[in-house]
Amino acid sequence: MRIGKIILLTLLLVGFYACNSDAKKEKETVLIQAPAPDPMEFGFHLNDYVVIKDTVRNGDSFGEILQKNNIGYSKIFQIAEKTKDTFDIRRLVAGKPYTLLCTKGDSLQRPECFIYQPNSIDYVVIKFKDSINAYTESKPVKIVERETSGVITSSLSGAIDEAGLSQKLVADMSDIYAWTIDFFRLQKGDQYKLVFTEKYINDTTFVGVDKIKAAYFKHNGEPFYAFEFETDSVKQIVDYYDENAKNLRRAFLKAPVVFKNVRISSRYNLRRRIKLYGNRIRAHKGTDFAAPRGTAIISTANGVVVESARRGGNGNYVKIKHNSTYSTQYLHMKKRKVKVGEFVKQGDVIGWVGMTGNTSGPHVCYRFWKNGRQVDPFKQKLPDADPIDSTLKESYLKHIKPLKIQVDGIEVKLPQEEAPITAIN
Ligand SMILES: [Zn+2]
Repeated sequence: MRIGKIILLTLLLVGFYACNSDAKKEKETVLIQAPAPDPMEFGFHLNDYVVIKDTVRNGDSFGEILQKNNIGYSKIFQIAEKTKDTFDIRRLVAGKPYTLLCTKGDSLQRPECFIYQPNSIDYVVIKFKDSINAYTESKPVKIVERETSGVITSSLSGAIDEAGLSQKLVADMSDIYAWTIDFFRLQKGDQYKLVFTEKYINDTTFVGVDKIKAAYFKHNGEPFYAFEFETDSVKQIVDYYDENAKNLRRAFLKAPVVFKNVRISSRYNLRRRIKLYGNRIRAHKGTDFAAPRGTAIISTANGVVVESARRGGNGNYVKIKHNSTYSTQYLHMKKRKVKVGEFVKQGDVIGWVGMTGNTSGPHVCYRFWKNGRQVDPFKQKLPDADPIDSTLKESYLKHIKPLKIQVDGIEVKLPQEEAPITAIN
């Protein structure tokens, strides 16, 4: 587009000068400037074909699309056979775009190439003019770095929304800080700053958030830094550490459900009074996370399933032993996913939120045991995850030095109504 404009501008200028000097020259110039732009897409010169662009409709199949475009059954069968290792033609998803490149000058306008885009970056090319072959390619993705900041007035999600940013940032941030900050208890005035990257194709089309490179969260007046660092380039293991190279992960997650869907409906409280029991004190030794029925319940740490049953007031429940000190229990599940003896990793789904046992609404009652006693997990100083390898610590600190300066340099945008009032002398 831009190149087109420049060419046009040059043409006008050249034309203008030519008029003033020599009419013959003008003609020549026009001839030279004449060629139309040659758009390239998927590695093809689109001008060489009749191009048909469409989206897969409900019930469309690869065969039907080709058949509608004058390709015969036997050819379709051959294509399906020859390309099945690269691309399963049954995988066409309704709503995804496809492109047909048809032979120019063919009276039947038969396609010789089918291009399918399962997502905005990757595409599958199936060529079948003479010989048949298929391959998958990706559009070149441009990574653009951005900075943002904000103040929490109600929720992190709300603040990110107000800034017009992708909710994926909220999810990524809750992941990074899942062990450090209780996102259920954010304070009005908490601040965040982010250095993150976004993915673009064709230079201008936004296709999503790439990753958070550095983050800062000021919670209750305390700063929490997080920097992304690859600790294993072969296995592509990436983790987040603070400014002193301390792992931000803990051995335990703060919640047994994914943050976005839930709220805490009842905390650990030894002095809870319940109307149902004549307003008497009835301790609540769990933390209740209300969430829609069917929300995945995840194990908050690595461990072994020691109980998986349906019993009385607990309903469907699972208990996991993490080590000789800690165990966790998850109650009122709609359905359990794990069996006794199974090893589960932190974040693994162990069941789904339901209403079995004594409960008035869908929630998971999360119980946390330390040395055989039920305690409030939010009040525990939980063990850290593995620290950064000592051989990597030096390069990590070097890596984050400029990033920290960058983060510190971001000025937090205050909400409009709280802008400082200029003093009048
Ligand atoms: Zn409970």
